Amino acid sequence: MKKIALLSASSLLLLSLFSFQPREADAAAYFTDIPTHHRAFEEITYLSQSNILSNDYSSKFGPDEAMTRGHAASMIGEAVQLSGTPTNSRFTDVTSTNPASGYIESSVARGIIKGYSDGTFKPDKTLNRGEMAVLISRAFGYNSNTTTAAANELITKGISKGVGKGNFGTSQLMKRGDFAIFLTRAINAQFREGAAPLQSTPMYVNVAGDDSLNFRTGPTTDYMAIKKIFKGYPVEVFYKVGDWVYMKADNAYGFVHSAYLSSSQPSVSNVKDPVDLAPPPVIGGAPGIAGGASISGQTIIIDPGHGGKDGGSSALGLQEKEITLDVSLRTQKYFAKTPLKVSYTRTTDTFPSLPGRVSFAKQQKGNLFVSVHANAGGGTGTETYYYAAGTNPYEKESKALAIYMQKRMLEAWGLKDRGVKNKSLHVTRENSMPAVLLELGFIDTTKDNSYLKSPVYREAMAKAIVLGTLDYYYNYEGRKDVQSLYAEFGTSPSPRYH
Ligand SMILES: [Zn+2]
Repeated sequence: MKKIALLSASSLLLLSLFSFQPREADAAAYFTDIPTHHRAFEEITYLSQSNILSNDYSSKFGPDEAMTRGHAASMIGEAVQLSGTPTNSRFTDVTSTNPASGYIESSVARGIIKGYSDGTFKPDKTLNRGEMAVLISRAFGYNSNTTTAAANELITKGISKGVGKGNFGTSQLMKRGDFAIFLTRAINAQFREGAAPLQSTPMYVNVAGDDSLNFRTGPTTDYMAIKKIFKGYPVEVFYKVGDWVYMKADNAYGFVHSAYLSSSQPSVSNVKDPVDLAPPPVIGGAPGIAGGASISGQTIIIDPGHGGKDGGSSALGLQEKEITLDVSLRTQKYFAKTPLKVSYTRTTDTFPSLPGRVSFAKQQKGNLFVSVHANAGGGTGTETYYYAAGTNPYEKESKALAIYMQKRMLEAWGLKDRGVKNKSLHVTRENSMPAVLLELGFIDTTKDNSYLKSPVYREAMAKAIVLGTLDYYYNYEGRKDVQSLYAEFGTSPSPRYH
């Protein structure tokens, strides 16, 4: 999910139990031109769990192809649950033979779209960004009818950004991939970036007697139910998507049909607790979508920083190159408890060049790259770097890996959390796999130095690195055989953070 970008006001949204686990049948709805690192992968995956993505492209999605007005009407119409039964519309160029005709006619009836003054709709014409903004604004009830107001509303809500220099790019033509991203963000706030916090209204579940209400990941019954909730249970409603609402209940975010909510609490002798339906979250990458591949065959590249003629930083009796090698090699026995393979860029006091480390990783067919370092400069704490704009296409994956590593490192040592940071470093920038660089602590600060020196703490850090790797595979890639491994480490999977 994009949501990792907004570790800000709406960061609470990230921590929900939202899950991308698809229905069984969706394994087939897998697009060969949408690899896991595609910029619209998660949004397209989300939409493809329902009929919002119609099946006109069987194995390919065509993310860079033109988004037509007719197709936009179909997708939005499906998202807000309009009738799509083909019909002869009021437009001379949209008859019942057009598969979008039903949605076009229903959308006009709802005031969501308008045609041209010559009585045509031009369904095959490419939608532009201004039209997209107005369509989404009307369909989702933002009530901003001018293009400028609609564009501003989308920016405020974190659904779309401008194209630079204060310009929304109103006349720019839409590609299918971008439309999928904007529509997904309009539907589900968990995908939004940089949004203002949402306002909520308290409501209550109002179903008959002992009935339960399915709380789902999207606004149609095609989406998986994550919980069952019962009569009288309090919920926080954020906004409507057609007849459904996006809401929070029992610390999770999702959707229910609005017919089963009321603004006052129905009388009930005993409000039952919600029942979790979803398996542990299986989110993000391709394997989860495909039903969960194994992690066996995955190769982790561990890169002990510095070495040989390059000692790294040194202070208070320690040299960085020795710490990084020792902590790195201590990971071996923990990786041995898993089906993961591990390769080290060095196992002795040698100095591989930075390009040499990256080419080694590629030649080993590495799947993840983890560089181990100690900080210097008089600060304190632990931080993790990834890079978001290099030649490495695995930006989202790198960031997710960084987040899971950072959490486990903090758990191991309890030093100050300096955060996950985007920084251009050779090994994170030039790699062709998810890549992170760990700064365990400050060598020249007494407290941090005592941790860096201690064999006990080095051991804990090595274990943390392996657990961070497992958390990434479990939470981000949804690998099916990870969960059972945690018992070996006396712990359980981390919550989902990305
Ligand atoms: Zn270093």
